[in-house]
Amino acid sequence: MCSNVTLKITDECINCGACEEVCPTQAIVEDGEAMLRIIDPARCTECVGFYERHMCQIECPVECCLPDPEHPETREQLLEKARLLFPGREFGAGPAIGT
Ligand code: SF4
Ligand code: SF4
Repeated sequence: MCSNVTLKITDECINCGACEEVCPTQAIVEDGEAMLRIIDPARCTECVGFYERHMCQIECPVECCLPDPEHPETREQLLEKARLLFPGREFGAGPAIGT
């Protein structure tokens, strides 16, 4: 079985907001106190159901969107998360994503 991990944003974040604009699940929000963006693991599907790549990783200019080993999830679980977040939307199994 394919296993994945949700992404996290490290302290290297410069709070530019580029990742937030491309995240298909609105999983990225600003932490005003820390002056950086954070990823809500309850909303991150690793872009499963939407894109073949992690969009936040692609857009981040300082490469601080990294896999979070504390949130391991299977591809099936990520797809189910997408279905729960967006009821009524059709999600196929889709192609495997890269990192
Ligand atoms: S991997 Fe995709 S769903 Fe998860 S935070 Fe990044 S852009 Fe959003
Ligand atoms: S794109 Fe990278 S640097 Fe910009 S807010 Fe997102 S995580 Fe931070």
